[in-house]
Amino acid sequence: MELRRLCVFCSSSNRLPESFREEARALGARMAQERIELVYGGGSVGLMGVLADAVLAGGGKATGVIPGFLSTKELAHAGLTRMLVTRSMHDRKREMSRLADAFAILPGGFGTLDEFFEILTWKQLGLHARPIVVANTGGWFDPLMEYCRRAEALGAVSKGNLGLFTVVDRADEAVDSLLRMRREAKEAKRLARG
Ligand code: AMP
Repeated sequence: MELRRLCVFCSSSNRLPESFREEARALGARMAQERIELVYGGGSVGLMGVLADAVLAGGGKATGVIPGFLSTKELAHAGLTRMLVTRSMHDRKREMSRLADAFAILPGGFGTLDEFFEILTWKQLGLHARPIVVANTGGWFDPLMEYCRRAEALGAVSKGNLGLFTVVDRADEAVDSLLRMRREAKEAKRLARG
């Protein structure tokens, strides 16, 4: 399991509580420290902007992927290591996924949920097997997790598919969780070799 690039989906809103911004900042600092490059939507607004700024401030690398028509609305970040401009939202998602070794989801609105569920359903269909970590900042995703458990209990979600993603309490714990998965994957490989 590689962990060179982490794709993070999160809010483009500036109105979330300061504590949420602090968590995004802590995640960015941690990524820079571990030399994990950020891949994200390329905006300078909301948690997206806070996260990218923190990665860059820590000396890390940040790649933005933004469709041309959104570059004014989400105020394309001017200081990124690399900015890829795509033709459509679909191209953006495909490109972000192509670049990423793993995915993390932070609090967000419809856009974030769309991105989370797309990457989750692709995994459910066996189109990829990369880790997905949900950061449950301030219990943000509790109602969604409740929905997921109910959907599994009543049969709308196949048994075991809640295991396709991992939930952590704080955003920077996503890095620890992924580093642990990488260690375990390495160890399993070593044992398999005998
Ligand atoms: P939001 O969570 O709504 O603040 O949006 C977070 C990010 O998701 C922003 O970069 C949006 O451009 C993006 N986004 C919004 N709608 C979609 C969509 N249908 N598919 C993919 N990304 C989206």
